[in-house]
Order: sequence, then C-alpha cells, then structure tokens
Amino acid sequence: MPISASELLTLTREGLYCPLGRFHVDPTWPVERALITHGHADHARSGHGHVLATPETLRIMAVRYGADFCRTRQEARLGDEMRVGDVTLRFAPAGHVLGSAQVAIEKDGKRIVVSGDYKRASDPTCLPFEVVPCDVFITEATFGLPVFTHPDTRGEVRKLIDSVKLFPERAHIVGAYALGKAQRVMALLREEGWDRPIHLHGAMEKLTELYKQEGIALGDTPKVAAADRKDLHGAIVICPPSSIQDVWSRKFPDPVTAFASGWMRVRARARQKGVELPLVISDHSDWPDLCRTIRDTGAEEVWVTHGQEDALVHWCGTQGIKAKPLHLLGYGDDGEAEPDPAQAAETAEASA
Ligand SMILES: [Zn+2]
Ligand SMILES: [Zn+2]
Repeated sequence: MPISASELLTLTREGLYCPLGRFHVDPTWPVERALITHGHADHARSGHGHVLATPETLRIMAVRYGADFCRTRQEARLGDEMRVGDVTLRFAPAGHVLGSAQVAIEKDGKRIVVSGDYKRASDPTCLPFEVVPCDVFITEATFGLPVFTHPDTRGEVRKLIDSVKLFPERAHIVGAYALGKAQRVMALLREEGWDRPIHLHGAMEKLTELYKQEGIALGDTPKVAAADRKDLHGAIVICPPSSIQDVWSRKFPDPVTAFASGWMRVRARARQKGVELPLVISDHSDWPDLCRTIRDTGAEEVWVTHGQEDALVHWCGTQGIKAKPLHLLGYGDDGEAEPDPAQAAETAEASA
C-alpha cells in the first residue's frame, strides 16, 4: 500500500506536522522539533527545542531573537538531502528572501513539497525558485486573485530614481520591511545605477549588515543620524513601513513618501497609508505565477496555507487538480501585510 499524503504531513494546533519525522514545519507555537522555511517572523518563531533550517535562516533568527532562540540547531544547505526519522528531506530555494527554502518531504516514492512563501520574479538578494516535481504541493496565496499581477521591478525602481531627479530638494522616504524587501530595494537601486549612499533607519541596520556579510553588494548604506535628517535633500532613505507616517519621517526636507509592497497595486491602500509614490515590489508570487508554479510541479493535489485561498482552490478545480484550503492561522504578517511584532519592536527601539 503506498503511503498517503496525510500520513506524511498532518495538521496540529501548532501547524503542519510530519509524524514520521517527528517535526513541525514553520510552527506558530513553540515545539520540540521545528523545520523553518525562512526568517520572516510569522514562520520563524523563537522558543523551539530543536531547529532545522538553512544557515542563512539560522543567522537571521539569531539576529532577530538573540543567539539562544532555540536549544539546539542544525543547518541544511539548499540542495542538501537528509534523512530525518523515517523520511527523506530535500531543501530547494524558494526565491523569497535570503536563505528561504522549500522542503520536499519524501517516503516510499510519495513526495510533498512545502514551499513556505515564494516568488518566481528575479531577486538579486537570493537564489531563484526551483521547481520541485511532487505529488502534493503546499502553497501560499497572499496574492491569490487574478487582479494581482506584479509589474517588472526595474520599472518601479526607476520611478523612484526619476522622482529624485524631478525633486532634487526633497528627501525620498521608502517604507520597506526590514527582512528581504529593504535589501532587495537597495540591490535593485544599485542595478539601476544609483551609486549615491542609501540612508537607513536604525531598524534596518542589523539585517542589512547580515546581507552584506553574506556577500550581497548593497554599497554605502549609512545610518540616518537624528541631527542630519534636515540636510538630506534628494536622498533615498529606507525605513520600516510604520515610520513613513510617523514624526520621524517629517523631519526630512519636504519628504516624498514611498512604500515598496505588492499591496501598492491597490490604490486605496496607498492612499490610506498616505503613500505618495507607491512601488509595486513584492516578495510573493502574483496570480499568474501561483498558477504557473502549481502546473510546473505536476502536483495532483494542492494544499493552500494562507492568503486568498478560495480563489486558488477554485482555480485548481478548473484544472482538474484536487485542492483544499488549510486556513492556517498566524501566517501572513511577514512583510506584505501589517508590520510583524518583532519589526514593530525594532522600530520602537530605533526611534526611541
Ligand atoms: Zn515570508
Ligand atoms: Zn508568510
């Protein structure tokens, strides 16, 4: 009898659980053994006994939570295959943020891929998404509606550079989440030829430093000193999204507020957040890429973890693919939704 998908992976209060390997994937509560797909706070939490993740993700967790974020840890490099309990695991790049991984869980020829969060668009700060053929594909659906199609990021970054040229007296304050998006925006600016300093809010410093240590060229990224704010005419400043609206950003000369997020596709959101220059830059797949990826994996069954689950489940049905929503709670605060608690704490700390 071949093994069934639910014997390989099941749902518990803490999240997805592999009974044969005795570990959870991205648990939302502290567990004995956790496999973590990437460093965003909704997937990577502190307080687990043992953590298995890529070296980059482990370092990100240490930066966010302190070196003692778990009791014991084990590194899994992208491309590594390993035996855990009665299953074989393989880690493949997810293209989401530095160190982000999909994990293939396999036993007796049955393979489930947990993709965590992922995107297919190019990103100079992490390895590209790899298609892993599987029987069951577990996907997010943050932008799981046909209205969501992300534009080319180069055009978005050019809008920012063009605005600085048009308004050389005004500081450009760009809200971007501290892990992944901020560094991607910096790297894209460099690719488009911006060679002046990129100024950072204090909350961006540690993770940007970590990206640099990992060999990602981001150029000169000085921290904004409180006293210098009024002199930063024509500067590009990256800060947490919550800071574009607070008093911190008003100290700059006639600031232009920008926000880099997939949600900037929705004009009402941009207006509501007081964003003058919306930049549609997302670390999640848009609708065409979600559909394309499901097809590429050849999966005959799809489980949707979080986001706009219903539309994607419906689409799978039209393609003859079995699909179900998992309605996982606790995901989705990772950088394209509202600021996560860890980032909010960092922001409070940095602006104090
Ligand atoms: Zn994420
Ligand atoms: Zn997420």
